[in-house]
Amino acid sequence: MTMLRTRLNPPEEFFPVDPWALKSRRFAADYVPQAETAFALANGYLGMRASNLEDRPVQEPGTYLNGFYELRPIVYGEIAYGFPRFGQTMLNCPDGKIIKLYIDDEPFRLDKATILAYRRRLDMRAGIFLQDVTFRTPAGKQIRQRATRLVSFEHRHLALIHYQLVALDADAEFVVASELVNRQPLPVATNDPRMGEGFAGRVLHPTGTTGDDLRAILSFTTRGSELALGCGMAHSIATDCPFETEVERSDDRASVIFKVNGRRGAPIRIIKYLSYHYTDGGDGNEIRAQTGWTLDRAMKEGVETALADQARIVDRFWQRSDVVVDCPSQPRQQQLVRWNLFQLLQASGRAEGHGIGARGLTGRTYEGHYFWDTEIYVLPFLIYTHRERARSILGHRYHQLGKARARAAELGHKGATFPWRTINGDEASAYYAAGTAQYHINADIAYAVRKYVEVSGDTDFLHRYGAEILVETARFWLDLGFVSNRDGKFHIHGVTGPDEYTAVVNNNYFTNLMAQENLTYAAAVVDRLEQHEPNVFRRLQQATALAPNEAAAWRDAGRRMYLPVDERTHIHPQDADFLSKRPWDLANTPPDHFPLLLHYHPLNLYRHQVIKQADVLLAMFLISDHFSTAEMKRNFDYYDPLTTHDSSLSVCIQSIIAAEIGYMAKAKEYFDFALAMDLGDVGGNMMQGAHIASIGGTWLALVYGFGGMRDRGGEISFRPRLPKEWRRLRFPLTVRGNRFTVDITEQETTYTLETGDGLSLTHRGETLHLSAATPTVRRA
Ligand code: BGC
Repeated sequence: MTMLRTRLNPPEEFFPVDPWALKSRRFAADYVPQAETAFALANGYLGMRASNLEDRPVQEPGTYLNGFYELRPIVYGEIAYGFPRFGQTMLNCPDGKIIKLYIDDEPFRLDKATILAYRRRLDMRAGIFLQDVTFRTPAGKQIRQRATRLVSFEHRHLALIHYQLVALDADAEFVVASELVNRQPLPVATNDPRMGEGFAGRVLHPTGTTGDDLRAILSFTTRGSELALGCGMAHSIATDCPFETEVERSDDRASVIFKVNGRRGAPIRIIKYLSYHYTDGGDGNEIRAQTGWTLDRAMKEGVETALADQARIVDRFWQRSDVVVDCPSQPRQQQLVRWNLFQLLQASGRAEGHGIGARGLTGRTYEGHYFWDTEIYVLPFLIYTHRERARSILGHRYHQLGKARARAAELGHKGATFPWRTINGDEASAYYAAGTAQYHINADIAYAVRKYVEVSGDTDFLHRYGAEILVETARFWLDLGFVSNRDGKFHIHGVTGPDEYTAVVNNNYFTNLMAQENLTYAAAVVDRLEQHEPNVFRRLQQATALAPNEAAAWRDAGRRMYLPVDERTHIHPQDADFLSKRPWDLANTPPDHFPLLLHYHPLNLYRHQVIKQADVLLAMFLISDHFSTAEMKRNFDYYDPLTTHDSSLSVCIQSIIAAEIGYMAKAKEYFDFALAMDLGDVGGNMMQGAHIASIGGTWLALVYGFGGMRDRGGEISFRPRLPKEWRRLRFPLTVRGNRFTVDITEQETTYTLETGDGLSLTHRGETLHLSAATPTVRRA
């Protein structure tokens, strides 16, 4: 725990407690980078960091589109066979957030102005971000400026800014310059490997502009990924003050300028509509037209409709997923829980056809890549609250199965192996030891397929897509491992598990256990289809050239899987060599040397017992029915002191296992770190985007950790255990069409069926049948 930073609570002056909003009452120039993440808006397709409208001061004024990227050649000092030749980098799109303001010819900027009142609010019920500032100009005039921003969940290509201005105590000459600016490439001003590479030259190549007096649309193309981008802005203005407008348009920049003779007390209201589209190829004309149609429709519907649609969709999100935490001694916990959940909505809401990046659409860290973060950390939340989104994300993996097959072939293997990190389905990791070698991603995807199918009951997905993923991944494992002639066991060599401080090892326990699950489940599904769904089975045979004895071979490999227990410590060794290495001297590592990856050569880390993130313990959570509580405790006691939590994916899992083995204080402590990972800036890097896996992991810790839920085989059970500081934990879940609420207090747990025909579950081993009639109450 010493390794974790202790700045857990976001500073009160920036974020006063409010259960439904993130608010800030003071402008702080040195907090600009963090605030850009904290107040960012996104809908899963389009994301906008909360950069200041005036564009100054600004850290990274990002606007991102999910899946919009450019290829970049990877330059290796020494290349070897099978190394990916191209990286993929999510691009920063032209920035349409900018609305500069000049009063009597003087520019307004927050860091220079005399601010009289300042309020910011990310309203998590309305799905909007508001800023309301009153300031005094150098000439002594008081001006109030208000702006509401929205990135629409209804129309995923749409964002808007509702901008209001009033001169409070004197007339003033306003110039409002609304801009759309391409400023690629953005520099990557860091040697932090997590940030990835930038581009040296032009990335977005202009293909034309269109517009009229209050509108401008720009289009671009990328040379490597061959994508066409359209972005546009349109405006309406309402005021009794006299005004003139001007439009300037060039390839990389458009401005719509409003010159208003501001009369004292007379409001000026400007609505800026923004639209972003991209597509494969095509010319600029078509994408500009599409961009314009979104603007046309949005202007026709108007801002009130956009706000009402937004609130309706967000309300529906909360109905299906709000988690209530009542912690009188830490009232902020509720706010943090909701901010985390809201990020899951923002990362996934309209992601259809795409994956979820490691920072969602709030930052460029990890170049916008999709990792196992999605399947293991985020999907459970979606499966239990928004199953159609879970289906779409797994469907996106399915659509990349062809590339995964090709990659397996390239690496000399059968079946399919999914990329460790990617946007377009190709492997984008330049460091194979902590990239391609993390073959566990295949089992992680198969695991998510199983969980999705069992919890949602969506066998159609399994038949159309899931089974094919299972067949190809099982094939891959069978080919990757081998039956050793020494012990007749199935061994898997040359892999990297979740812990990236240990790489390219034999028999990583996590990988072996997850591969076993993959092999056995694939065999069970194939058998079931053969017996009960002959048509589906035939289609699967055709799609995969499935041979008659394959499933039996997978089952056999699963049965033989090497999953050792160390004789001396009685724990599961993380890998074949781990326990024989020297422990890293964590006690004498200077606090400013964390995360270790920024201060020590990988080889130095690899030859020690030191762990970046939960590995064996994560396996124990995911395949929980394989382990007794005593086993979990032994393993936790061994691995916990070796774990640095240098990855944000760690503490949430540690919290779940701690709760499971009755270490409640530790469970709560780890949970607090997970909960505050971003707003408490635990890793010191929230300015570069929200940690989406940790955020999903926070939900896991709430529901699986303190709620004590387990769901192996689709059987839902609970053993609730609240931290002593909490009075209540309440959450809704949807299982096979039944939405029910679990309400846990110190005394009792109440299960209430909200919709659906009924569902059986177990509470501390007792079977309960939930029906619409009455809530079922049991002693906690
Ligand atoms: C972690 C990985 C994770 C990646 C992206 C790394 O620091 O070690 O497990 O997938 O970040 O979040």
